[in-house]
Amino acid sequence: MSESAAREDALIGSCHCGDVRAHVPQGSVGVVACHCGDCQKLHGNFFAMFVADRSAVRWEGEEHIVWYRSSPENERGFCKRCGSRLAKRPVAGAKIMVSAGLFERTLPRKVIKNVWVESKPAWYDAPRVGPLSPEGFVAMALAEPIETELAQYGYVQRAASGNRKPPGVIALTWITAADSSERERIRAHSRQNVQDFLKEPGFISIVTGFTGLRGFTVTAWEDEPSMKRALEKHHEVAMKELFGERFVASVWTSVWTPTRINRLWVRCTGCGSLEDVSKDHPSCSKCSAPMPPQPSYW
Ligand SMILES: [Zn+2]
Ligand SMILES: [Zn+2]
Ligand SMILES: [Zn+2]
Repeated sequence: MSESAAREDALIGSCHCGDVRAHVPQGSVGVVACHCGDCQKLHGNFFAMFVADRSAVRWEGEEHIVWYRSSPENERGFCKRCGSRLAKRPVAGAKIMVSAGLFERTLPRKVIKNVWVESKPAWYDAPRVGPLSPEGFVAMALAEPIETELAQYGYVQRAASGNRKPPGVIALTWITAADSSERERIRAHSRQNVQDFLKEPGFISIVTGFTGLRGFTVTAWEDEPSMKRALEKHHEVAMKELFGERFVASVWTSVWTPTRINRLWVRCTGCGSLEDVSKDHPSCSKCSAPMPPQPSYW
């Protein structure tokens, strides 16, 4: 790419006095907001940033930048004349975080992630994540597992066929990956399995997810034969790898049949009455308004 083309493709920002200009790639990640103690001191508030490869960011007026070592790991740049905070860069690292405040305020970007929320001052609220694509959300949940003493957090997703029959069997499974690359291998198998499941008419839905290295599934089927048909496809390939190779740390599978299936209650949007929709009656017994469609059992 030519120098001028690279420039057109970049977001261009400047400090308050204009001595320093930053060219940041359009594809930079952000806005990410850091709420740590260092950022609070240095910015007077949280630090809103675009994260980019250091080599992809170009400075004009670089001679006006002063780099201050804010911690053993990081240095922070500010304009010598006006004092605008410009960027943070790890002393050893390939990334740079450029201040979002240098750029047009009309830039169509949102805070997608808040980091060090636990260090923020009490006077404002910050949700950990902002608007994200499903893929971005899963990638983030896997990249930085959140854990407390009581719980591990991760992601969960559901794939449903639209089958509204009550489940005849439920399969509960979990599987633990030895490391993150095994986890990716498990997830790749799982994506193919779900494609097979969706082609099976007796499939109702699967709820599946990961917390750290442990993946789990809850899969509902009309009956056992439909489950068996679906598991004869890609799932068999995965099982062969699991038993034939050194793949996965531990695994448990099970199949359950219901002891009792209770009624399915849905509230009438007209009069507010809670109606038993498992009998598939299309209108409210109290006000005769049409009922919303019966949700699937799982
Ligand atoms: Zn300046
Ligand atoms: Zn910070
Ligand atoms: Zn009603």
